[in-house]
Amino acid sequence: MAPNNHDYYRILGVSRDATPEEIKKKYRQVAMKYHPDRNPGDKEAEERFKEAAEAYEVLRDPEKRRLYDRFGHEGVSSTGFTGFRDFTDIFHAFSDIFGDVFGFGGQAGFQPQAGNDLRYDLTLDFMDAALGTEVTLEVPRVVHCSTCGGNGAKPGTQKVPCPQCGGRGVVSRTHGIFQITTTCPRCQGLREFISEPCPACRGEGRVKEKKKIKVKIPAGMDSGTHLVMTGEGNEGLFGGPPGDLYIILQVRPHELFRREGYDLHLTVPVSFAQAALGTRVTIPLLNGSREVAVPPGTQPGETIRLKGEGVPYPKGSRRGDLLVDVRVTIPRHLNPKQQELLQEWVKEAPEDQPVIGVGPAPTSAAEDEGLLKKIWHTWKNFQQK
Ligand SMILES: [Zn+2]
Ligand SMILES: [Zn+2]
Repeated sequence: MAPNNHDYYRILGVSRDATPEEIKKKYRQVAMKYHPDRNPGDKEAEERFKEAAEAYEVLRDPEKRRLYDRFGHEGVSSTGFTGFRDFTDIFHAFSDIFGDVFGFGGQAGFQPQAGNDLRYDLTLDFMDAALGTEVTLEVPRVVHCSTCGGNGAKPGTQKVPCPQCGGRGVVSRTHGIFQITTTCPRCQGLREFISEPCPACRGEGRVKEKKKIKVKIPAGMDSGTHLVMTGEGNEGLFGGPPGDLYIILQVRPHELFRREGYDLHLTVPVSFAQAALGTRVTIPLLNGSREVAVPPGTQPGETIRLKGEGVPYPKGSRRGDLLVDVRVTIPRHLNPKQQELLQEWVKEAPEDQPVIGVGPAPTSAAEDEGLLKKIWHTWKNFQQK
């Protein structure tokens, strides 16, 4: 549509010194009057509608208006302004106006949309999570169809304006004095219609694929940790940015180590004789092994702390500690020789003789010791009476 030669001020019905507000108000009135939804099939109204859009496009722009005032239509053409191609152009250009009245405008059509974020649940072995590792994930995600370049039309064919809405993206119907406009059900507001869909994506423009992504898992990861891979989610629509990939970690338990933050716990059994006399035990570490001294007189449940032998922190060179929990074991069966030796030992330590039937059963090592002393004291008092 070439610029017409009618007077722009006359088309909108405003004076030559009208303010921008007046021009906008008048244009809105004229546009509503000749709106194609209110004048279906009326060629004359269609022309008036297009004419008004062109007049408004020039008069709302101070520079174009100045050129028009001085040089008329020639002046405007020199800016490269050639009018509007179709209704879609007009609705796009003045979405502020049509958006107000019809509740659409900027919303319909090819708005950039960000791709969805994706979630990937990854289960790691304890050691891999603690020390860091590299894994290759196969992430199912949505990407642009390479066959049609993402536009959904079969290669060699073109998209055509949607036949139901005439390429406007919306359809209107009259309800009393109201004009009700809704997104076109056929093209979903996309304005265009694919007559021959791309066979690879069935017209979607996007396909599912499994992308291989290498992920470096830093040291010190624990269950519930999230890793975010920016831009590795679904691809966006109409130039929108891609989503992100969230990797949610789950860590399998270890048969020996138990984690508490960056500290590790390891339970080491020693016999009651070793605990009493002291001993050296070789224990496993995250990487390697090491000998640890269990001091004489170690009590059940006592802990030996090995600084810096725990889980590395993800950043820096710090590490947690390894806590060796000493479990003192009592033999369930003794051979005659052992029985004899222990009888000898009991004679040497009369305060440890058992007292039966006094007080509740001890529940922990510390209580155990306190309770025995208390019982022994009570027993002696009883004897002296
Ligand atoms: Zn395709
Ligand atoms: Zn449509």
